[in-house]
Amino acid sequence: MGRRLLLLGPPGAGKGTQATMLCRVLGIPHISTGVILRAAVAAGTELGRKAEAIMASGELVSDEIVIGIVRERLAESDAACGYLLDGFPRTVAQADALGADAVEVAIVIDVADDEVVKRLMQRAAEEGRADDTEDVIRNRLTVYRRETAPLIDYYSKAVVTIDGVGSVGEILCRSVLALRQEGEE
Ligand code: AMP
Repeated sequence: MGRRLLLLGPPGAGKGTQATMLCRVLGIPHISTGVILRAAVAAGTELGRKAEAIMASGELVSDEIVIGIVRERLAESDAACGYLLDGFPRTVAQADALGADAVEVAIVIDVADDEVVKRLMQRAAEEGRADDTEDVIRNRLTVYRRETAPLIDYYSKAVVTIDGVGSVGEILCRSVLALRQEGEE
């Protein structure tokens, strides 16, 4: 079973939830640039101050900043035996910087746009995330299509696509089965 994993999919596909559960099942660290950046914003660090307005608009923080964050995180000892990347890479430049060997399997969570907008609006009402207003949601989807969706082709040899509609447990099972099949090939 691949242990250097990447989770891809549009905002609202459920990547964060799936990543947390999958990492528990596989015993590997969950590396999410969104989580790291939100923590920096909450802590008011220099990084947080740089990233805050960009994140609130739904645009991407600079490649240079996130590549630095991920390099540092991957150098920590718990990442030596594998990891699950969530929200990084988000551009081809980030993928180039990461290097092809860093991703054994890229799991793409497939969810249609209408469903994604519906889910994100619901999350906005429930959690009040600063980047979950309707305009920002639409912008995040546009940015995803333009910058991040091309990574599905970029990683085509490593990609497994799973249906992202269903219960959290169902989707987790699909990911685990897909990884098992990949490992057997
Ligand atoms: P996420 O929680 O992954 O949806 O990330 C929330 C926001 O953090 C994104 O909309 C971006 O503004 C920023 N962000 C997270 N990861 C990256 C990345 N790899 N590259 C650029 N910006 C990022």
